[in-house]
Amino acid sequence: MKVTEHIKEANGKTQFSFEILPPLKGQNIQQIFDNIDPLMEFKPPFIDVTYHREEYVYQEQENGLLKKKIVRKRPGTVGICAAIQNRYQVDAIPHILCGGFTKEDTENFLIDLGFLGIDNVMALRGDAVRNETYFTPEGEGHTYASELVSQIQALNNGEYLDAEIQNQSKTDFCIGVAGYPEKHIEAPSLDSDIHFIKKKIASGATYIVTQLFYDNKKYFKFVDKCRKEGITVPIIPGLKPIATKKQLNLIPHRFACELPDDLIMEIVKCNDNKAVRQVGVEWSIAQSKELIEAGVPVLHYYSMGKSDNIRSIAGELF
Ligand code: FAD
Repeated sequence: MKVTEHIKEANGKTQFSFEILPPLKGQNIQQIFDNIDPLMEFKPPFIDVTYHREEYVYQEQENGLLKKKIVRKRPGTVGICAAIQNRYQVDAIPHILCGGFTKEDTENFLIDLGFLGIDNVMALRGDAVRNETYFTPEGEGHTYASELVSQIQALNNGEYLDAEIQNQSKTDFCIGVAGYPEKHIEAPSLDSDIHFIKKKIASGATYIVTQLFYDNKKYFKFVDKCRKEGITVPIIPGLKPIATKKQLNLIPHRFACELPDDLIMEIVKCNDNKAVRQVGVEWSIAQSKELIEAGVPVLHYYSMGKSDNIRSIAGELF
């Protein structure tokens, strides 16, 4: 079922969902199930599975020269989606990127998803590869997520890359895209970023999931601005409870979001990670309660591979 249909069916009630990462290469899928199992009692209508493109690492050779080696640390997005749908009978949403995909790769990926009975995809650009300043598309691949959305929408209309197979089997994906309450790191302003989000919607996306944020005022302002620009699709807030002191430095840097001073100081004063986790969970519960009161359609939690704190939060709310 499509995300938009799940939201319609809930009739104004806020639903619970979450995102997981595929395991590191060499690890077992059981660890994914062990994280998902405790969250199923909160009846998520869908579960997102991130996509991780290849990275380039440089290895020194015997002759002293560096050799570029391509590694993919977390393959398996499509397989995990299929396994989730099969095991839990819940919609799994694979993320798909511009980065690392030619248009042909994208089409083949989407064909696989269609065969597996996957109804939703989250269309993203992806970041620049490590050691590179700017994002570069793969060959003739897409530069922006809006172009990727257009390709997915074209396939929904039965338009394949090869003109000879036009108007054959159509897919019917519901397409989600990313939104940034504190603007995307590369965007010169929030207004310009929203301008391009509007382009993703005009290209065929029907819902938005936000980057994580810790100050609800930023989300409310973002939603207001989007509505004023004529973006009417559901805007699902993304939340991640802080779990370690290290994340005080890591999260603002990695996700380009500000941490409120109150939250920072409460965590700074903690003596151990158990106390940090407690502060993180309580902050997230307070944020979630206010968002539920405001009538958000879904609360979407970033599990980052650990579900116990998400379970503590959901247990208070759903
Ligand atoms: P875009 O929408 O293409 O925007 C990228 C930048 O370009 C923005 O600054 C935008 O303002 C600007 N822009 C857009 N269109 C144009 C245009 N036509 N002309 C000029 N500027 C333009 N990354 C992963 O690798 N794997 C994942 O699974 C993943 N999941 C994510 C899930 C969510 C909910 C979010 C919020 C992010 C996720 N990311 C993931 C990170 C994401 O890939 C990065 O934030 C990436 O840098 C931007 O992706 P985007 O889809 O927002 O890009």
